[in-house]
Amino acid sequence: MSIAFIDLAAQQRRIREKIDAGIARVLDHGAYVMGPEVRQFEAELAAFGQAPLALSCANGTDAIALPLMAWGVGQGDAVFCPSFTFAATPEVVPWTNATPVFVDVLPDTFNMDPAHLEATILAVRDEGRLRPAVVIAVDLFGQPADYPAIRAICDKHGLKLISDSAQGFGCTLNGHHPIHWADVATTSFFPAKPLGCYGDGGAVICKDQDLWDLMDSYRVHGKAVTPDLVGRTFEHETKYLNTRIGMNSRLDSIQAAILIEKLAIFPEEIEMRQVVADRYAEGLAGSVTSTPKVIDGGQSVWAQYVIEHKNRDGLAAHLKTQGVPTAVYYPVPMHVQAPYAHFPQGPGGLPVTEALAEKVLALPMHPYMDEAVQQQIIDAVKGFNG
Ligand SMILES: *Cc1c(COP(=O)(O)O)cnc(C)c1O
Repeated sequence: MSIAFIDLAAQQRRIREKIDAGIARVLDHGAYVMGPEVRQFEAELAAFGQAPLALSCANGTDAIALPLMAWGVGQGDAVFCPSFTFAATPEVVPWTNATPVFVDVLPDTFNMDPAHLEATILAVRDEGRLRPAVVIAVDLFGQPADYPAIRAICDKHGLKLISDSAQGFGCTLNGHHPIHWADVATTSFFPAKPLGCYGDGGAVICKDQDLWDLMDSYRVHGKAVTPDLVGRTFEHETKYLNTRIGMNSRLDSIQAAILIEKLAIFPEEIEMRQVVADRYAEGLAGSVTSTPKVIDGGQSVWAQYVIEHKNRDGLAAHLKTQGVPTAVYYPVPMHVQAPYAHFPQGPGGLPVTEALAEKVLALPMHPYMDEAVQQQIIDAVKGFNG
């Protein structure tokens, strides 16, 4: 049997009956979009994430765009983010006419370098062309960014902080979820993410009702929400009173029904992912350039298990001959991608990001990895002498 990079089928076998029952309930009541399961899931997601509120939406990309829209981010605003991330992180910034400004990452955790962030903010401020407005920190490969340091910098310079936790939802630092420090935390329910559904979905975790209401309006074509109706009466459905230009970013009830079942086993799956990560760390010590380093006090949800190797492409080719699938996240950093190459970068450029793109390799990772299969992967890595 071939080795799976991510084994979603093993998880499905475990909860298939509950998922079937949840889907059947949606088919019975017929409220297919934003139905009762969506409300229930938002409440359970907020509770899990130690936050007052959660707002579901259509995907993890819109989840980053929604707070930017609600805050009125736009022309002339600088939004600081890493380049060593998935396209969605910087992509939403130009949607608002704001400018992404790329910041380097730390060589050990691969997450945003707070010192380079501050140097970048100061450089943008001194140049005077853009107004520093927002920082988007990414919980890359599942582990929390250095939120205490990043929050302090945001406070000092008056910036909002988004945690793009599409890969890291469920991660903690000193027992706190990223929303403890961030103004909003966003996630994706794309199937391969640690908490995924069977299609597209996303959510914004937030702390205040006014922001939730505004994002609720933006996700449904700018419909009137409670604060818009103060002092006026509207006798019709409020979705036909459009008070701002929004978008269509709703979650399907069937996906919410699936997510309710997946969230119920997610805490246990995070522990199972940690067991797999520990076995890799022990088995691979000394045979690759580096195994992952998690920030002190951090709990990763291990969206990916990414090693570094000086002959990365040679190792990947060798593993393929041994039946071990691998992936490279990310071979081309965002600041090098053609549509993004003209956006500003922090002082000195992004040397750590560029070096990592040559060395990183993701090994198979999921909570249901059998110990014998994992040993086979470890032996295959060790068998490479290149
Ligand atoms: C997957 C991902 C997203 C976007 O999520 P979608 O649901 O695919 O839109 C955003 N940021 C990061 C870091 C991601 O990995």
